[in-house]
Amino acid sequence: LQLINPQIVRVFLDTAEAGSGINKLYGAAALFMGFAIVRQIIQLVATYVGEQVAWTATNALRADLALHCLKLDMSFHKKYKPGELIERVDGDVNQLADFFSQLVVQLGGNFLLVIGALLMLWLQDWRIGLSVAIAAFSGVAALNWLRQFTVPRWQALREVDAKLFGFLEEWLNGIEEIRTSGAEPYIMVRLYQTLRDRWHKILSAMRVQVLVADLPLGVFALAYSMAHIIGNSLFQEGGMSIGTLYLIFYYLDVMREPLWQLRRQIENLQRASASINRITEMNQVKPSVLDQSNGRLPVGPLTVSFENVSFRYEDDLETDVLQGINLRLKPGSTLGLLGRTGSGKSTLTKLLFRFHDPSQGSITLGDEGGRQQDLRQVALSELRKRVGMVTQQVQLFNATVRQNVTMFDDGFADDRLLQVIEEVGLRGWLDELPKGLDTVLDAGGGSLSSGQAQLLAFARVFLADPGLVILDEASSRLDPATEQLVEMAVDRLLENRTGIIVAHRLGSVKRVDEIMILQDGQVAEHGARAALAADPESRFAGLLRAGLEEALA
Ligand code: ATP
Ligand code: MG
Repeated sequence: LQLINPQIVRVFLDTAEAGSGINKLYGAAALFMGFAIVRQIIQLVATYVGEQVAWTATNALRADLALHCLKLDMSFHKKYKPGELIERVDGDVNQLADFFSQLVVQLGGNFLLVIGALLMLWLQDWRIGLSVAIAAFSGVAALNWLRQFTVPRWQALREVDAKLFGFLEEWLNGIEEIRTSGAEPYIMVRLYQTLRDRWHKILSAMRVQVLVADLPLGVFALAYSMAHIIGNSLFQEGGMSIGTLYLIFYYLDVMREPLWQLRRQIENLQRASASINRITEMNQVKPSVLDQSNGRLPVGPLTVSFENVSFRYEDDLETDVLQGINLRLKPGSTLGLLGRTGSGKSTLTKLLFRFHDPSQGSITLGDEGGRQQDLRQVALSELRKRVGMVTQQVQLFNATVRQNVTMFDDGFADDRLLQVIEEVGLRGWLDELPKGLDTVLDAGGGSLSSGQAQLLAFARVFLADPGLVILDEASSRLDPATEQLVEMAVDRLLENRTGIIVAHRLGSVKRVDEIMILQDGQVAEHGARAALAADPESRFAGLLRAGLEEALA
């Protein structure tokens, strides 16, 4: 449409000069306005559709990336801070919104317009067409060549951005520690350093970007001068009417606007390419814990067996955190896991949940009848149903009590929830909440004591009713009243279930059937609790004499 309008103006001019009827001029004017209005309407529709596409596409991408991150290994999540991931999942995708909404339509549209204008120029006079075309295509070639310098620079900037957000998130999370230890100056220095780094990265990207930005203008100036020279000589020779001459300059002007826009869009395109590279990179990280089997686990209490299991964390090349662990646990029995801090107790429990797979050996779950399933053969969803875990740090969500207990599963009746909460001894606490089950808890559980948070986590496990329960006791002390509540809840939790308790307290050790003491990732002692306690030579007896808590600290 933009290309048709000048044709109408040419007719108008040439008609006016020839002195033909006024009606013809009115007609041309009406046609001109009609086309202008249609053009506006099309622009409106294109913008609407563009935004629609942009939001649908980027939201889908955000969802894909978020799900992908949730499935990635724990080692990935240790490497990238949450703030960095936010910058990737949201920040990088945001860069693409512009790309989807306008870039494709406009870049394509402007490109077509330039080609069309060139074609029209060519039709008016091939010499003018040819010279302008040469100028335009050498400009495009130069822009393409510059890409290799701009894209990596934008990508580096995105990386610093992500680091900055990772850093912000980290210190906001640690605000209590930073205040109490007076680490503000350190934080500020790090912030200045990161900001300075970011500034350098922007400068470096902008230096190349200036070239990219000004290139289309240079090309335009060149084309304009050529058209002037050639057009002028043709007019002088009488080979061209005033209308045609007008047309040539009009088409050149038509090219000016898209060239201006191309300049901005090419910057966007190069930024978008940088983000696309980063998104692709993240999408290509594959989890090592794969969920490929659909094995089921038997109902009721489960047997647990470790066969010569060794494990090392990916980034820890030197030592195995666990070495040659062997263990057989009968259904319904309870194992107490003891050992100094750092001996590998939590790591052992994490293997059972397939946060990681063992580097050697195998872990199997099964029933008394001897049906055993290697963990890798069990569907992850099944594993999560049949194995319940309370970790050292209970994570609560900024959601209602109900959602925190059911973990966002709507399939539980309130009666069942209340029964479970009663069983873990939180009924009194719940009754004092203003809105009962609908009370919204703070993120991170700021409004609960750590004992209450643990009890709430017990309630989650009760509700799920697994066949194996793993308790990684918080190493911090609870007050005697809460401790008693926790112990009673643990007793109920272990009824008719197999249990593994990482014990930091004498009270928890009392109820277990077997004791395993870990030392530097190896089994230092393993046996029935009663037998070990009776044997004065055993380490366990020694721990009991010393008072477990003090001895393990
Ligand atoms: P605590 O009683 O303090 O809870 P623990 O026995 O549970 O200690 P683990 O958390 O199993 O100890 O850690 C065992 C060893 O593995 C430690 O040396 C620790 O540094 C290392 N470790 C733990 N988690 C990781 C990890 N994600 N990446 C690398 N090494 C780790
Ligand atoms: Mg631990």
